Amino acid sequence: MSSPPVPLGLDPDAAPAVSRARAIPTDLAARLRAALPEEAVLTEEGDRGAYLIEERSLYRGEAPIVLRPGTTEEVATAVRICAEAGVAIVPQGGNTGLVGGTVSAAHEVLLSLGRMNRIEEVDPLNFTMTVQAGCILANIQAAAEAAGRLFPLSLGAQGSAQIGGNLASNAGGINVLRYGNARELTLGLEVVLADGRVWNGLRALHKDNTGYALKHLFIGSEGTLGIITRAVLKLFPPLTDRQVAFCALRDPADALALLSMARDRAGEAVTAFEIVSGFALEIVTRHAGGQDPMAERHPWYALIELAGSGESGALRPVLESVLERAFEAEVVADAAIADSLERAATLWRLREGIPEAQKRAGGSIKHDVSVPVSRIPAFLERAGTAVTAALPGVHVCAFGHLGDGNIHYNLSQPEGMEKAVFLARWEEMNGIVHDIVADLGGSISAEHGIGLLKARELLRYKDPVELDLMRRVRATLDPRHLLNPGKMFGLV
Ligand SMILES: Cc1cc2nc3c(=O)[nH]c(=O)nc-3n(C[C@H](O)[C@H](O)[C@H](O)COP(=O)(O)OP(=O)(O)OC[C@H]3O[C@@H](n4cnc5c(N)ncnc54)[C@H](O)[C@@H]3O)c2cc1C
Repeated sequence: MSSPPVPLGLDPDAAPAVSRARAIPTDLAARLRAALPEEAVLTEEGDRGAYLIEERSLYRGEAPIVLRPGTTEEVATAVRICAEAGVAIVPQGGNTGLVGGTVSAAHEVLLSLGRMNRIEEVDPLNFTMTVQAGCILANIQAAAEAAGRLFPLSLGAQGSAQIGGNLASNAGGINVLRYGNARELTLGLEVVLADGRVWNGLRALHKDNTGYALKHLFIGSEGTLGIITRAVLKLFPPLTDRQVAFCALRDPADALALLSMARDRAGEAVTAFEIVSGFALEIVTRHAGGQDPMAERHPWYALIELAGSGESGALRPVLESVLERAFEAEVVADAAIADSLERAATLWRLREGIPEAQKRAGGSIKHDVSVPVSRIPAFLERAGTAVTAALPGVHVCAFGHLGDGNIHYNLSQPEGMEKAVFLARWEEMNGIVHDIVADLGGSISAEHGIGLLKARELLRYKDPVELDLMRRVRATLDPRHLLNPGKMFGLV
């Protein structure tokens, strides 16, 4: 058996082993070629390269065969042939996941859904659309808009991420506060199972209580239970009014108070509520072209968006009255309200430019965590104290979806410290932050999933009974561990 994928940025000894499947039989490529169209089987190094890259360069994929089926039947055929040969398959969507979930070993086959990219039906009256798994998220949003509807899943990688990957990782993004995660946006699924059978659960029903909701097993399963090939998604009325404000705050407790005031006054209209630390804003203005909308610097900021389907501008007085109350209560120190959609986009870029700015600012150690919304101030206080004590001079670059309790708790390297020396502290910092998260009843992965990167941490923090149940589900649906082995559970 060949070695597992090598993590380039982390300690190689810390990399979880990825599979116990046996090596690829020499005739596998020929068998796949005989059953699938020519363009669906790639074996040349130059053709496979793009599928083996991992966004953060933490790992390197090695699959000698990349499959690009164009239909559900072709996915099923590929899975059957690989299952007969005892060869594991790594499903891949847009490859924008950030936890090594699509990294393949040299004894595995990678299966990309990219050719299954058709929007099959938009039903504006049922408020649904039926799509193939390889549809790019941005194209789905555009198709919904063209039909006078909204598909609200929205995230930074939407120009490349595919809906199959969004569902397999139960993606979150900026609108979870109002519309929920990918899970809440899915009515039906079609899935190719580990033995090549096709489960047709592609129902466009808003109500269906005929037994177990199997779709929820596959959503968030990161390719370990089945390969999602098609989905029925929920649509919503279009948003005709958007109001955005960027507010300066003293501390995260003020952010929480502002969120509460906004929800009390504007209810469901609060679609997004993001928090940005002073350090995060500073690096966006320094490295990513952001312009500070305030006259002076503040310790924390919040971006708040109200949106509705009513007359354009109708929510402006609502936003103003929220901010008036917040000023009176001394919750907000300063605020900039966007007076146009262009200005709103500029304010959003202050939030969305943070990951890029962090990259340019040097090394960063990342955490994608959630705690109950009311505990965010306690989390930020405790984590800040603990990481600074362990690594004096470290910069806390915290930002994220405060409205749903999800903080991207990133750390930037201290001035004068070598990047490699800083990154060598990755696991130690993870341990410090995740222990606090666990103590506050939170999750060590709010959005991005487990993949390879957090497989060992899952074993550490997940309730043992829950882990046992997860393993039993896996053993039922994929007893030979031929779907994305090593991801989520590590080597089992
Ligand atoms: C700049 C940037 C911003 C991001 N912002 C967010 C954010 O706000 N919220 C968020 O949740 N995530 C975010 N992400 C992470 C990532 O975009 C999401 O996890 C996204 O849902 C992954 O989709 P993908 O198609 O790229 O999946 P991939 O990376 O290709 O795969 C992700 C996992 O799903 C499995 N998989 C993929 N397709 C299928 C399928 N059809 N059937 C079964 N398994 C499959 C893979 O094996 C892998 O385990 C961001 C990433 C970047 C780079």
